[in-house]
Amino acid sequence: MKLSPRSRKWKRIRAIEQNPNCAYCGEAVTLETATFDHVIPKSRGGSNARGNRVLCCKKCNWLKADRTAAEFAVWLLSCSVRARLVAESAG
Ligand SMILES: [Zn+2]
Repeated sequence: MKLSPRSRKWKRIRAIEQNPNCAYCGEAVTLETATFDHVIPKSRGGSNARGNRVLCCKKCNWLKADRTAAEFAVWLLSCSVRARLVAESAG
């Protein structure tokens, strides 16, 4: 099968070759789990330019929803802090 350099799959393959990890959680991504995320969501005025797109896993893309990357980072951090507090209070 010949992939067009303009196809979404081809772009994902190239992006995975350059960096095979999720931009947010750092987990390894595969062609099946990799998605492109808009750092600033299009719904918030972000563009489709290359600089506004990162490769991330489906889970992070789904969790991030329409947050900006900065908002998502803060949210992830608050989740891990909350998880640690719960673990400490339980232990
Ligand atoms: Zn991820």
